[in-house]
Amino acid sequence: MSETQKLETQISDMRREKNARPFTLAIASGKGGTGKTTLATALAEAAGMGVTLRDCDVEEPNAHLFVQPHWSRHTEQNRPVPRIDAQRCSACGKCAELCQFNAIAVAGGRAMVFAELCHSCQGCRRICPEGAISDENMPMGSLDCGMQLKDPAAPINFISGKLAIGQVMAPPLIRAVKNVGAAEPLNILDCPPGTSCPMITAVRGSDFVILVTEPTPFGLNDLELAVETVRQLGLPFGVIINRADSGDSRVHDYCRTRGINIALEIPWKRSIAEAYSRGDSLCEKGAPAKPALPQLSATWPTTVSVPTAMLMPPICT
Ligand code: SF4
Ligand code: SF4
Repeated sequence: MSETQKLETQISDMRREKNARPFTLAIASGKGGTGKTTLATALAEAAGMGVTLRDCDVEEPNAHLFVQPHWSRHTEQNRPVPRIDAQRCSACGKCAELCQFNAIAVAGGRAMVFAELCHSCQGCRRICPEGAISDENMPMGSLDCGMQLKDPAAPINFISGKLAIGQVMAPPLIRAVKNVGAAEPLNILDCPPGTSCPMITAVRGSDFVILVTEPTPFGLNDLELAVETVRQLGLPFGVIINRADSGDSRVHDYCRTRGINIALEIPWKRSIAEAYSRGDSLCEKGAPAKPALPQLSATWPTTVSVPTAMLMPPICT
């Protein structure tokens, strides 16, 4: 049985155990520019099975440049923000007290909404004792769906969200990207960088998180923040080091001393950067960069083993 078939079997077993829901692998990092999208798209192509790849980096979606899907659907997306009926509002202040984002203020005997700050949780509507709050739709961006059929036996169902110009509230659109139904057994999320609300919204509920980093002081600092974040969320995780032979050894030392699994190291090669700049996938057959990726190509069947290895707890402490 090939590594790919083994992975498929293991993921199938996981699905059965988890009531047949897809296995969700989130690719995240504490900072931008570490190679998340490169990894996410390469993993999707290397999986050798039906994959749903979701570009959750809605502020700067770019996975489509590598996947080059055939687009099939474009939909504008709205999010609910509260509208307050001044006639019914008693200015009790319960909505403002509940809102963790300061999106409602009560002053001068009336409640005011700051829609740009609202995360659309709808908690205020539920708590209002007077039934004075209803939902108002606010445009937030768009969703695009398509399919990559480079390997017809392993199609990539691609979903991407794009925040509208002037909109700053990414989490509701990220939830929309994650909520589009799909039947593929593997779900890969290309997450926004950082450790704030967008990243947390994207990784929350995942079965496993891969944190991509680079061996620099900035990479280490942001990796520590990302590790702390996924630990607080109680998510199992591992690390992939990009440009692994650049910089220093502090990221390696940090992972070793904390017992964190380094699932893969990608070397620092000009040919990889050139392939990236052309929009080539890391694992594309015949890609000029591939011969220059001895470590990656040698372990690519096990790259597919990245999720495989990660299915086996405990891999990190
Ligand atoms: S909870 Fe309802 S009644 Fe109370 S201040 Fe808010 S909108 Fe007005
Ligand atoms: S919907 Fe949620 S985030 Fe928005 S104002 Fe109400 S409580 Fe605050």
